[in-house]
Amino acid sequence: MSHKRLTTLAVAALLIVVVMWLGYATNREVVGVVHQQFNEQQLLLARQSAAGIESFLEEKTNLIEVLAENSQDMSPDGMARSFIPVYHKSSGFFAIQFINSTGVVVSGYPAEDTPVGFDLYAANRSWPFDVARDCKEICITDPVPLFEGGLGSYAWVPVYDDDEFKGVILAVIKISTLSDRFLIDAIPKGQGYLYMIDHSGRSLYDGVHEGTIGERYIGSFCANDSSYADILREQMQGKEGTGYYFDEITGERQIVAYTPVVWGDRVWSVAASVPASKAGELIRRVYRGQILFVAIVIAIILAGSGGIILIFSGWNRELEKEVVKKTDDLKRSNMGLASANTRLGELDRLKSEFVSMVSHELKTPLTSIKISMDVLKSLSGSGKDTDTEKEMLQIIDRSIGRQKRLVSDLLDISRIETGNMKFNLETVDLYEIIRESTESMKNIADKTGILIHTDLKGESMQITGDYDRLVQVFVNLIGNALKFTDKGEIRIQARTVDGHLEIRVSDTGIGIPPEELDRVFDKFHQVDSGLTREVGGSGLGLAICKGIIEGHGGTIRAESEFGKGSAFVIML
Ligand code: ADP
Repeated sequence: MSHKRLTTLAVAALLIVVVMWLGYATNREVVGVVHQQFNEQQLLLARQSAAGIESFLEEKTNLIEVLAENSQDMSPDGMARSFIPVYHKSSGFFAIQFINSTGVVVSGYPAEDTPVGFDLYAANRSWPFDVARDCKEICITDPVPLFEGGLGSYAWVPVYDDDEFKGVILAVIKISTLSDRFLIDAIPKGQGYLYMIDHSGRSLYDGVHEGTIGERYIGSFCANDSSYADILREQMQGKEGTGYYFDEITGERQIVAYTPVVWGDRVWSVAASVPASKAGELIRRVYRGQILFVAIVIAIILAGSGGIILIFSGWNRELEKEVVKKTDDLKRSNMGLASANTRLGELDRLKSEFVSMVSHELKTPLTSIKISMDVLKSLSGSGKDTDTEKEMLQIIDRSIGRQKRLVSDLLDISRIETGNMKFNLETVDLYEIIRESTESMKNIADKTGILIHTDLKGESMQITGDYDRLVQVFVNLIGNALKFTDKGEIRIQARTVDGHLEIRVSDTGIGIPPEELDRVFDKFHQVDSGLTREVGGSGLGLAICKGIIEGHGGTIRAESEFGKGSAFVIML
């Protein structure tokens, strides 16, 4: 396996370990926090119930104390009467009784729950009576079983008339009253239960284990060394807190949240006992919520990413199309460049040819001039052979003329190409121009024996043009016709076609091959024929003609039947 792959695998494994460790740590944290919150929730519930019980008992005690202090008629009947409104206005008393100073129950309300004549001393149950009398303050005793069943708690309130002890008001409150009001419904069924114990660990109320009421939990319900016994001992000391124990009966681990209930000098304890699995359910609920949240987030991210991918792929496709289009454009422009390059090469070749041709053309007359000059020098002063002298002078003259024409042609073509050829436009007679051109070429034509016919309709033809330049065009065309025609004739015709003037210069010469018809107007282009080489020329004449005619807004074209003659047709 390659080094790169191993590194990738190692990094991936490390990442998985880190993610798992983070997940484990987070889970522990979440479990810890949820358990803590759950316990606090149970503790809050126990506190609420305890606070309810405390304020209930406090209210009852206060009422009895007020009654004891404000009693006017302390006769047994008078006391019983004063109990009635208190009993009815403040529900929750089981019975209110009056015990006279000798410790005998003398009256009470309700009468049926009052054991009139019951002697505390005789029954040996006088100690709270004695405490209340001697301490001159309320004495509360631990709940005890009532004759009527259930547990009852007793509040003994001494009654004094000034310093004279009149007896004790005994308020009996059933524990079931407390549990019915504050404990039974505090936790929904199946979610756990509340229980209440006194300071000795006796059960005062138990939401599920009813048989335990009045019994001590430790020893009967749980072993002395059990974790539940530890919790109960904490409760018996009036402490507040939470703890766990394993309930043998339900077979479940329970969370217990306990808090004290203080009534006078009595300290009881209310506890909420809830299966620990409920906290697990809460955790599962939290996780379910989180998983749902994460799933929604992932779904949103996936949908968003999908959308972005679609947008990007759309852009990508457009980009690809654009690239293909640009590539095609580039290919086309490359082809254009290649053909331009070929053309440039061609032009370069033409330029080289031109330079060599121009050099040759310029050199030839110079050579003739030089030779003629040398001959003239050798004859100079000898006084003989004046014919030779004349001939030499004519050669020099012709050579200078030839060179002059070449330079003039070069200047013209340069002016045409740079757009600098100026036309002296005026109303001119085209026939006059043709006649003058023919006249100027007459000598040459006579020498070659070629006849020049002019076939012009009417006496004159007025047009706007540059007289000299147009003469230059016809002279050139007639000159070419004379050059390339050895027998036959040259004909110049003029006529009007569709409102345009058409002038045709035709000959019966060698003609021009069809593929050369357009190219003869290119500068320096000459048809590659033996005659062309023989008669010479610069290849500039027709290019200049074309420039001049187009400068007049006209056109010029060549027609030919190869071997039979040519015609140059001007449209103006
Ligand atoms: P040149 O100075 O060579 O005559 P032109 O531009 O006037 O230059 O003519 C270009 C070429 O066209 C000539 O070299 C010749 O090959 C051809 N050409 C022109 N006129 C005629 C014609 N009347 N008959 C045959 N070929 C012609």
